[in-house]
Amino acid sequence: MSRSTVNSAFLPYGRQQISRADIEAVRAVLESDWLTTGPAVAQFERAVAGFCGAAHAVAVASGTAALHTAYAACGVGPGDEVVVPAMTFAATANAVLYCGATPVFADVDPDTLLIDPAEVARRLTPRTRAVVAVDYAGQPADYPALRQLVRGRGIRLVADACHSLGAQQEGRRTGTLAELTVFSFHPVKQITTGEGGMVVTDDPRAAAFMRSFRNHGIDTDHRGRGAKNTWEYAMTFLGHNYRMSDINCALGSSQMTRLPEFLARRRRLAALYDARFAASDAAKPLAVSEKNLSARHLYVVRLAEGADRRRVFEHMRGRGIGVNVHYLPVHLHPYYRERFATGPGLCPAAEAAYERILTLPLHPGMAEDDVDRVVAALEEAV
Ligand SMILES: *Cc1c(COP(=O)(O)O)cnc(C)c1O
Repeated sequence: MSRSTVNSAFLPYGRQQISRADIEAVRAVLESDWLTTGPAVAQFERAVAGFCGAAHAVAVASGTAALHTAYAACGVGPGDEVVVPAMTFAATANAVLYCGATPVFADVDPDTLLIDPAEVARRLTPRTRAVVAVDYAGQPADYPALRQLVRGRGIRLVADACHSLGAQQEGRRTGTLAELTVFSFHPVKQITTGEGGMVVTDDPRAAAFMRSFRNHGIDTDHRGRGAKNTWEYAMTFLGHNYRMSDINCALGSSQMTRLPEFLARRRRLAALYDARFAASDAAKPLAVSEKNLSARHLYVVRLAEGADRRRVFEHMRGRGIGVNVHYLPVHLHPYYRERFATGPGLCPAAEAAYERILTLPLHPGMAEDDVDRVVAALEEAV
């Protein structure tokens, strides 16, 4: 495993791990006939679907494209509402806007920062088309409660699992907890393809729609037409070019072989942080539910009462420690405030959490004594 971050001065909050085998897999595709819509795409899709235990997987250009594709497969369109958590990356809500629909922000549980099913229930209306849960920091949201809420109401349940590839809830992997599950392969996530995303589902009709949606709304792809010896194709609805290239997919398949190792390493480092914070009053980690095995994407702590977060942040950055803050609640971004007149008071738990949270470095290339260094710098700053 590459240890390039350990000796460098700056310890980022997240970082990819690229092996010789990854480079070799990409090189092999570059020397093959297919740079896009080739066999590496289906191979990567099978690897992720098989790992999750889901029937279908559709690879697309990014996690954001995957959200858009999943929402479109739910039939989200103008006039619809989609409930999303306030505490997430803006893309979760932005993709609702790409569909011409309206995002409705639900507050989160203050201990886990996962979407609060009781808050979702209060925001359902006859226009609600879908509910989106975000597996914040890597642990699955409360899917049993969310499934109960949407059951029999014609509302689709989508998992934004961009943080949680490899997480489990009551023994089931992410990818099987909601009707449609979205993954991102950005370099800070559990595995990377540079840019890339995927939607996983057991619903064959949704999968067929999404294959077409990523390819302009056309009913076949280039390789499929070659196999059938025909030039004809039909565009049946307005889709996009959201295809993921074989170059990216080959990297993804190679990375998937090391996912168990990456997850084990993240969990080991998180357990070390947990042990350190059990004996410290500088900060408290977020709670992880007993029914969940987190994929440990982010290690988020809540700073002690009275700590000045900006000063802690600056002190740690000054020590070469890449702390970060995930996230400003989406409804507080200027774009949303101006367009939807959202603002403070809409989701008080997310807003209060935002004032105190700090993301500490966590990625498979970190050394165990980096954890000590981070916690020591945090205690010094607080
Ligand atoms: C990373 C991320 C996305 C977007 O994924 P990209 O691949 O960067 O487009 C969406 N939602 C969440 C919660 C994310 O963390």
